[in-house]
Amino acid sequence: MSRLARTAGLTDVQQEILSTVRNFVDKEIIPVATGLEHRDEYPTDIVEGLKELGLFGLMIPEEYGGLGESLLTYALCVEEIARGWMSVSGIINTHFIVAYMLKQHGTQEQKDTFLPRMALGEVRGAFSMSEPALGSDVSAISSKGVREGDEYVLDGQKMWLTNGGSSTLVAVLCRSDEGHPEGTAPHKSMTTFLVEKEAGFGEVRPGLTIPGKIDKMGYKGVDTTELIMDGLRIPANRVLGGTTGRGFYQMMDGVEVGRVNVAARGCGVAQRAFELGVSYAQQRETFGKPIAQHQAIQFKLAEMGTKVEAAHAMMVNAARKKDSGERNDLEAGMAKYLASEYCKEVVEDAFRIHGGYGFSKEYEIERLYREAPMLLIGEGTAEIQKMIIGRRLLEEYRLEG
Ligand SMILES: Cc1cc2nc3c(=O)[nH]c(=O)nc-3n(C[C@H](O)[C@H](O)[C@H](O)COP(=O)(O)OP(=O)(O)OC[C@H]3O[C@@H](n4cnc5c(N)ncnc54)[C@H](O)[C@@H]3O)c2cc1C
Repeated sequence: MSRLARTAGLTDVQQEILSTVRNFVDKEIIPVATGLEHRDEYPTDIVEGLKELGLFGLMIPEEYGGLGESLLTYALCVEEIARGWMSVSGIINTHFIVAYMLKQHGTQEQKDTFLPRMALGEVRGAFSMSEPALGSDVSAISSKGVREGDEYVLDGQKMWLTNGGSSTLVAVLCRSDEGHPEGTAPHKSMTTFLVEKEAGFGEVRPGLTIPGKIDKMGYKGVDTTELIMDGLRIPANRVLGGTTGRGFYQMMDGVEVGRVNVAARGCGVAQRAFELGVSYAQQRETFGKPIAQHQAIQFKLAEMGTKVEAAHAMMVNAARKKDSGERNDLEAGMAKYLASEYCKEVVEDAFRIHGGYGFSKEYEIERLYREAPMLLIGEGTAEIQKMIIGRRLLEEYRLEG
């Protein structure tokens, strides 16, 4: 077990889950990850293994067939999985956010319908806020849901759906003006619709098309897609929570736990980069000694190890804060910001330690180098995290009078 990124105070159950996941990552993910990634191939066998481990239901309450575990347990599992291959953590992340939103905000009927099958991984979730013209500025969403009798008719185009093709349940954020007079703040006139569909590409349901996979520089294997709604009819009981106008808050709640998750991914990728760097530095010799014996390289390793440790501590703090029932947007924003920036820096240093070989596709660090930038963008860019952190700090440190 690694000396870095240990977590004090875990229960026996948490330790057992983590050790099982770590074993799975070492045996079933790391040996095949780079090959699958280079072929942009969906990791079907790995996903089946995750189902068997119960990871799709890790945080779903036991009454719905899940393991009922905390956000901390979940985040530590994600860290382990991302250490093996970040794309695999992406496969469970949007599923986890949708399950979390259902648990927190769903009607009883919605929970009973979806959560038991989500816990088994039979129903798989994706969540969709972004559109071609917007990502950071969610208030500018233009996709629309209009009520017609017992249904809503959805129109619009969505962008960047992680698991857009493989999922069978998509939480889609749309503007829905019904009951919200003109002039209502944009975030008060948005609704989350629970859209069921077939897995795959093309017209997966009348009025709903998933055109195909977006070709990406990294984060391959997991499918990222557009979603086009053209007169898509959704029964009124598929409004998340049963009431319109709450979608923005529901999505932001989901994104908040998602941020801890992205921080955990950054921690996992950085750990793997450190492992690769520290190992290579002891094998490669220049000027008559292993490069690890040159102080410049040792300093790099020292900085990398410190960053791995600091990011892990902040991520664990943010998860524990949420688990305690307290508001954690400040801690989650800080953890996401720091872990993703540090991840990029640790990966860059490990890449440099590899010299020319880091540029070869034969070395794992090449894959990590293409994966790390995604963490600077997903679940809110670094600039957006800093806006959240700045606003919250000014709230906390407001001058009296
Ligand atoms: C691989 C991948 C998977 C994704 N998966 C999903 C998903 O599953 N579901 C989903 O809904 N979305 C998903 N996204 C979308 C992602 O959330 C957005 O890309 C992200 O929020 C940024 O939005 P944008 O790309 O529109 O950039 P923009 O919002 O256009 O921002 C462009 C630049 O301007 C900066 N900027 C924007 N506003 C400000 C401001 N006010 N002040 C300072 N700087 C600012 C940004 O930080 C960024 O640097 C995914 C994206 C990628 C790349």
